[in-house]
Parts: sequence; C-alpha cells; structure tokens
Amino acid sequence: MRENKKFVTTESVIALISGLYVATGFAVVFSILFLLTSLDRAAKLDRANRVDMALNLETRYLKAILLEYSGWDEAYENLIVNLDETWIEGNSGQYLIDQHGFDFTLAIKANRQVANLSINDEVKGLKFETLMSGGLEDLIEESLKVQEGDEGMVAGYILAGTDIYLVALGPFKNEKTKKIRPDSYLSLGRRLDAEYIGELESSYELLGLRLASQTKGTMNSKVLLDASNRSIGYLTWFVEQPSRLIAPKVIGIVTPFFCLAIFLTRYFLKLDYADRIAFEERLYKEATCDPLTNISNRRQFMTLCQQEMAVHRRNGGTLAVALFDIDHFKTINDTYGHAMGDKALVHLVQVCSSELRESDIFGRLGGDEFAVILRETPLEEAVNVVDRVRAKIEACPIKSNHNVITITVSIGVAPMNDSITFDSILEMADVALYKAKKNGRNQVFVSA
Ligand code: GH3
Ligand code: MG
Repeated sequence: MRENKKFVTTESVIALISGLYVATGFAVVFSILFLLTSLDRAAKLDRANRVDMALNLETRYLKAILLEYSGWDEAYENLIVNLDETWIEGNSGQYLIDQHGFDFTLAIKANRQVANLSINDEVKGLKFETLMSGGLEDLIEESLKVQEGDEGMVAGYILAGTDIYLVALGPFKNEKTKKIRPDSYLSLGRRLDAEYIGELESSYELLGLRLASQTKGTMNSKVLLDASNRSIGYLTWFVEQPSRLIAPKVIGIVTPFFCLAIFLTRYFLKLDYADRIAFEERLYKEATCDPLTNISNRRQFMTLCQQEMAVHRRNGGTLAVALFDIDHFKTINDTYGHAMGDKALVHLVQVCSSELRESDIFGRLGGDEFAVILRETPLEEAVNVVDRVRAKIEACPIKSNHNVITITVSIGVAPMNDSITFDSILEMADVALYKAKKNGRNQVFVSA
C-alpha cells in the first residue's frame, strides 16, 4: 500500500492560477465597464451642455439684433411714432425676417398695443393676441422687473397656438441718452420648427435633435419652460454611446488574451505535473522495488508487514510467514556465472508469483532469500501452499544456453502469534529455515 503524503499538487496550483486569472479577468472587465459607463455618462453630459450652449448662442444672437434696433432712434420713430410701412418693409420688419430668418418682428406701443407685427410667410395667421397670451405678456412683465439696473432685455420660449417660439424682447431706448423709452418694446422671434431644428442640428452637431411634446428619461432631453415656468415642450437628441463602439473591441482583445493565458498556463503546468508524477513514480519504485526481480525490496516488505500486523491485531484471524532460500546458490553463480544466478532469481520469483495469491505479500529480503506473508491462512494450509511452491520450483528447471538448471529452495514457516512481534516471527521462520537447510534442504520446516 503506497503511503500518501500531502503536498501542494500541481492540480491545486493550476486551479489557483486559473482562479486568479478568472478573478483578474473579472476585475479587468469591471474596470473596463466602469470606464465605459463613465465615458457614456460624460458623452451624455457633453451633449446636454452642447444643446444648452447652442440655445444660449441663438438667444444671444436674437438679443444682439434686438439691442441694435431697439437703441436706434430712427427705428423707434418709424415703428412706434409714425408707423412708416415703407420704412418698416425695407429696414425692419420684413427686412429682418429675410436677413436673419426670424419668423416675426413685433413693435409694441403704449398700453401694450401692437404698433407693427411683421411675420414670415411660413407662420401665416400668427396674431399679436396669440403671442401675448402665449407668454409674451409674461416676458414684458419680466422685462419691467429688470429694466432698472439692466437693458431690460429678456428672452425665453412662448407657446403661440401649437408652435413654440424662441423670443427676445426689450424696450426701445434713446440713442443718445441710452434711457429706456417707457411702454414701447421691440420683440423678435423664431419658431422652433423642423427647419430651424434641422439648422441647429447641423450647425452645432446635435445628432437627432427633435422637438417633442413629451419625453422619457432625463439625460437626453431638455424641457422648454415659458416665462411662468410652465413646461411647453421638449428638445430631445441622440447620444452615441462610446461603450457600444469600444466594448466589443476591448472584449475581442481581452477575451482571447485571457483564454490563451489560461490555456498556456494550464498546458505547461500539466506537462510539468505529468513529468513530476512520472519522476515520483520512478523514485517510489526505486525506493520500494527490488530492481532485479521487480517485487518489494526488504524495506517495502517490512513496511507492508508492519501494516499487516496492525490490521491483524485489530481484526484477528490467522496469518503465516515463510522464508525461502535457494539451496547452494553460490554453486549456480560459480558454475554458470553471475548472470545465470540473476536469471535463477527472476525465475524463482516468477514461479512463486504464479503459485501465490494476489493478496499474499511477497518480497526479496536480500541475496537469495525471499519472504512471504500468507494472509488469512492457518499454519497447516500455509505449509501446504509453500510446499506446493517448493515442488513447483524443483519441477521447473531453468533452460538457458543449452543448460537445464534445476534449483531447489528450503523454506521455514512460522505462524502468527498474537503475543509476539513481527521481528520475532521472522526470527522463528529463520530458525525453521536453518533447520530445513540442516535437514538436507529442498524442504519445508515449521517453527516449533
Ligand atoms: P545455502 O544452500 O546454504 O543457502 O547455500 P548458498 O550457496 O545459497 O549460500 P547463501 O544463501 O549464503 O548464498 C547467497 C549467495 O547469493 C551469495 C551471493 O554471491 C549470491 N548472491 C547474492 N545476491 C545475488 C544477486 O543479486 N545475484 C546473484 N547472481 N547472486 C547473488
Ligand atoms: Mg542460499
């Protein structure tokens, strides 16, 4: 029975390294996912900021034109005081609509009455009242609040009918004194229609920018509020997720790398493991086997016997030990040579092995001396078995180089006795063997 020492096995090292690879793989994947999620979030935020920036720039543009016209005395004269249609056509109303793509220009006089409303052909039917009730009135109120310390210029979104307009409004001012002319306003507006949204989409690279009446989620949309903070619509847009582009490539690179690393590690460790196992087997064999006859050597035989004795003491039963010694072996060596002597030893082992049971423990104690432990065998039966072996050895001569050499063995047998040690039984068997030799050899002698 082979003794099993517990060492760190290559298999456990393989399992550990594979586990570490998998853990590292997870760590890498989670880090990449975290990085990609951060990139996606940054991309979304960036796009939302870009939409805000675009709307701010558009509002500033409206305000810049508004500032120019509201601070121009000639415009005030012709739009509010005299209402010169020809001047308006060529210098303000339609002119501004054509030049800047506005959808309306509106001059408001005292008591919030309309002085002039010029509209783009595309928004036909747009009425002053619709603009006022849609939020322009609120913008005027807001303008009044900021007139003291500021230009009084305001901007925002209004819902006129079903259309949303980006509108700027501010009071007329005296060109020289820069003082606000009370109760007179100029307003410019641009409808957020498909054409305008398309312009914003391409000018500011806002992919998929659309006007919507409602939206899902919060990141890819912006709510449009009027001056009273009422929601009047949404702008939505599309954000490409960098993770969708990067993730498959990263997974495509990382996965084969990890698989290859795991495969190579396992392959080389297994190779090493196989070598080590083979080497251990060889060392074990060298330490426990007799190299000539391939049966247990003295040390292994003794180890096995000690184990068997322990089992026997625990479980009881019968057991016998027999010692074999070739008769006049020196003569065979001397007559036919040492090689023939070796052959005789191998031959003896073959004959014995064929006669003994698998369960019997058979070993070479040294030189031409062999021993066997016959398990679960009463003394009488043990004597019969070994005598049969003896007779077989005698009946099977060695045939080699035209020589037919008959060998015989003397055998000493001792039964197991509960009260004695294994060394004592061996000694008893040895004494019996000595007596078998003395009695004339080629016989079995039982210990007294
Ligand atoms: P006896 O009948 O009294 O046993 O006489 P014997 O000649 O067999 O005497 P003994 O058992 O003492 O002799 C053992 C001899 O076996 C001595 C040694 O030269 C020889 N021998 C020991 N080991 C080997 C071996 O591995 N190969 C060979 N060929 N001879 C060995
Ligand atoms: Mg001998």
